Amino acid sequence: MAAGKRKFVSNSQDSVRMFKSDFFEALSKVHFTVPLYLFIPVIIYCFYRSSLTGMALWEYPADFLAGMLVWTAVEYVMHRYVFHFELPGTIGRRLHFIIHGVHHDYPSDRLRLVMPPSLSIPLAIAFFYLFKACIPDRYF
Ligand SMILES: [Zn+2]
Repeated sequence: MAAGKRKFVSNSQDSVRMFKSDFFEALSKVHFTVPLYLFIPVIIYCFYRSSLTGMALWEYPADFLAGMLVWTAVEYVMHRYVFHFELPGTIGRRLHFIIHGVHHDYPSDRLRLVMPPSLSIPLAIAFFYLFKACIPDRYF
């Protein structure tokens, strides 16, 4: 955000309505534990798949650390340059608010502390194929 721009931040823990449609509104909310239920089984499955490749035991923590570093960098770049990118005009402001702005304007909204599955699952699939294209086949 540019210096001098007015910044709204609510202290309310309530969830602000984002969509007129009840369907889209429901898809925009999630309890903060839901990503754990979704992605921990995927992580366990990935560990299982990697155990079939004959990886040495020492490679697991090394690869885990490398994955954490890469994902942290990717997440930072996404947050800094994609989630905070705002197209001009009313539609651009609205799109930015829906994608990420609500997270900053209502930081205590208990149902929007994490990315909802309606967005995180497609992003996870896209990143899986992006990383699969960039990382040697022996890791998949
Ligand atoms: Zn942000």
